[in-house]
Parts: sequence; structure tokens; C-alpha cells
Amino acid sequence: MKITAAGGYDAVGRNMTGVTINNETVAIDNGIRLDAFQMYDGETHMLQKYKKKDLIDMRVIPDYDSLRNVRAQVISHGHLDHVGALGVVQPSVPIISTHYTAEIGRKEYNRGNYYSCDYNEFFKVSPDFEVEFVEVTHSIPKSSIVILKTSEGTVVYACDFKFDDYSEIARTDYEKLKKIGREGVYALIVESTRVKERGRTPGERVVREKFREIIEFIDKGLVIATTFSTHIERIRMIMDLVEKTGKIPVVIGRSLSKHTGIAEQFGILDLSPNARVYGSGKAIKNMLKIINKMNKNERSDYFLLVTGSQGEPQSVLPRMVNKEFSFNFQRNDSVIFCAATIPVPINKTNRYILESKLESQGARIFKDVHVSGHASREDHRKLLNLLSPEHIIPCHGDMVMKGSYVGLAAEEGYELNKNVHLINNGLSVEI
Ligand SMILES: [Zn+2]
Repeated sequence: MKITAAGGYDAVGRNMTGVTINNETVAIDNGIRLDAFQMYDGETHMLQKYKKKDLIDMRVIPDYDSLRNVRAQVISHGHLDHVGALGVVQPSVPIISTHYTAEIGRKEYNRGNYYSCDYNEFFKVSPDFEVEFVEVTHSIPKSSIVILKTSEGTVVYACDFKFDDYSEIARTDYEKLKKIGREGVYALIVESTRVKERGRTPGERVVREKFREIIEFIDKGLVIATTFSTHIERIRMIMDLVEKTGKIPVVIGRSLSKHTGIAEQFGILDLSPNARVYGSGKAIKNMLKIINKMNKNERSDYFLLVTGSQGEPQSVLPRMVNKEFSFNFQRNDSVIFCAATIPVPINKTNRYILESKLESQGARIFKDVHVSGHASREDHRKLLNLLSPEHIIPCHGDMVMKGSYVGLAAEEGYELNKNVHLINNGLSVEI
């Protein structure tokens, strides 16, 4: 069996791993690295104007040429760094995922042969490969740990996950993972993004309490919150608590409109009849114009959920502070950031600029209403103990992150280059 790192093994983003047996390959994930692209061009829809080779050289999409004879494209979940490159290079092979992830693919990158399964259903790719999805908690609905049953043993791909035992929209299927572990796991390919963080990652209910305290505390002005558009559990929680304040919730932004729409379609989100959603440029402009004209009291009756938590210049909140809409912040307006800044230089810079401009225009800022969607060290140890794999390949991280995983694996009795393998993009390991 050969495991190939096609992307995501030198920095966080553009994930793709190949598993090859008898000269046939299954590719898992097909993501973009957004921060790398933003350095060249801020607009994601502009990706298509670039040549595939240039995007590979820019380290925005995986290095497809490192994989040969791909028979199927498996997608673990709907985050851009796992699915986003489907918009650039459409594989001609079946694209296999859960139903929810397939719907994101169809809505965003409509070409492609999507095949979707429920959890615990099998998809037979060839005599050498069968794919199965196991439910796990993360920060987008219907995430999965991918199980590849192969003629040379079981491969488990856990990228991305966390263990949130109080999630309101998902559960981790520990029993199934235990069963797979008992039956024998040949290789575990596992994300390493936060393995250096000690302890475990707190659950989403921590965010609920933080948000509740803030929304109950703010007693005047317009309240605006921003979070990741794909984080439906958080959006659900925000909308639920806002409903209790009696404010009229308004959802603004193309990507928020798209993802809340898909979540409603799947019955994971149920926006109140009071809620209004604006996704197109013209509708957004009109709505913000109306709010801008309101007097102080009317204005405080509204709550806006907008895109722009990372300060991305083309999203709604940065465009509001940049006066691209007929909208002015007023003293006593509040902005709640329900998202951490993704720790890459361009996001840190964009977010710094956004916060500085918000403050200079009189807005109050509430930050860090967030918990990570990625497993910490003890969560990783738990997964390792559930599965007891023969081999481990850390992925989704830079050398420091992957190195931290090697440290954890060593604590559990594994040995580098014997049964823990470090590979970089473009390279393979035979096990
Ligand atoms: Zn993810």
C-alpha cells in the first residue's frame, strides 16, 4: 500500500491524500488553501481564471500530478480546505461523500459525478477498495471519518474531527470506531492541526454560554455578529438566543445564505419566520440602506449576522466598514466575533485592519466567542486508543504540527520511521 501526500502536508489547507493499491488510487479530499490564494487575488470565484498548473505552483490546490490512476474522489466534509478545489479541477471519477457534503459540492461546483451515502453505508469503488463514512463531530454538519476497506487492510482517514459529546447536531460514533479498531486498522491518516494543544477541545455549548452573556449584556445599539458560514451548529445557537431577545434576525452574505439554505433543506437548521436572509449583492445593499435610515430605537430592534469573520475584503462586514454600502456605524453599535482568526498572516492582517476600522467608527467589539473544531492532544490520544492502528501518517499541518503528533504517538509506543511516517507534499510512503 502506498500513501501519497498530494496536499496539506506542508501547511494547513489544500488537503488531498492518495491511497494506492495494485496501481489504483483513491484520492481523499480536494481542498484549496485560501490564504495562499488571497495573496494573489481576493475573490474565490476568480480561481477559475487561473491555470491549474499556476494554482499548483501558488500552492493553492493539491499537486494532482503526484497521484496516478485515480479511480475515485472521496470527500470527508464540506470545508473549503477539503472540497474547494473541486471548483477548479473537476475529477471525471465518482465524487463520494455524505449527502450534505455532496449538496455543497453540487451547489458550489455543479459539474461532477456526485455519489452520496449515509453513515455506515458502503460504496464499492473496485475489488480493492470500499468506502464507508463514520459520523464524527467537527464544525460543519455531516462530517465524517473516512474508512477505506482495502484488499491490504483498513485505512482510516480522520481529517478533520473533534470530540464534542454535547453537540446538538452530531455525535461521534464511538461504538463504530471501537469495532473498526477491534477488527484491525492498518493505517491511520490523521490531522495534526492542534495536537500541540494540551487537554481536550471544549464543546460548542461553551460558545453558547459566552454568546448568551454578551447578547444579554448589550442594551443599546445595533448588534452585529459574524461567524463561519459553514458552522451551522453555531449559527443555530446564535439565532436561537437572538430570538429570545425579541430582536429581528437578519442574515446577510452570499455564503451565509447558501449554507443556511442547505442546512434548512436537510432539517438541521430551522430559521424563525421572523428571520430574513439576503444573499445577493443588490438585496444586501437595499437592506443595509434601510437599516441605516432607521432611528436609534428602531435600529436596536435588529440583529445582523454577517460574513467577514476573517476580515476577508470581499465579505460583508469589511465592506460595511469600507463604506461600500450606504451604511454608517454609530456609537453603541456592537460587533461580536464568533470566530477565531485563522492563524495565518493574511487573516491576522485583515482582521486587525477590520477591528481597527470598526473601533475608529465607534463600534464596540466582543471577541473570541469561539471554540476550535479541531481535536486537541487528549482527543487525539483517545482516537489512537480506540483504533490502535499499525501505522500512522500525520497530515493537515506543517512540520511542527506533524512533529507534535509524532511526539504523541511516541508516548503511545509508536516509533518514527517504523510505524509513524512523516511525508511532505509530493512524496509517498510504502507501508
Ligand atoms: Zn474542517
